[in-house]
Amino acid sequence: MRLLMWLGLAVLVYFAVRKSFRANQPPSNQAQTEETAWGDNTFPQSSGSKRVEAMLNCAYCQVYFPSSEAVLRDSQQFCCAEHAEAATKSH
Ligand SMILES: [Zn+2]
Repeated sequence: MRLLMWLGLAVLVYFAVRKSFRANQPPSNQAQTEETAWGDNTFPQSSGSKRVEAMLNCAYCQVYFPSSEAVLRDSQQFCCAEHAEAATKSH
């Protein structure tokens, strides 16, 4: 009878620990946070930190570069003016 009591207590503790462990970790509401993160407040904690920039692929050398440095030529993006020139000249 005593053993059963201890066993019950152990199970209770086990579930309590598991519950608190789940509460600390965010997997249960991961989908929810993902949805809200891309909702109206896209970057809630971006104060001070640099905004994530979209990366583009150079049509000439295939190198990745931030969209702010893009050189547009013939509706294509290039990493620099030299590659834009080279790509349009080769046509
Ligand atoms: Zn390039």
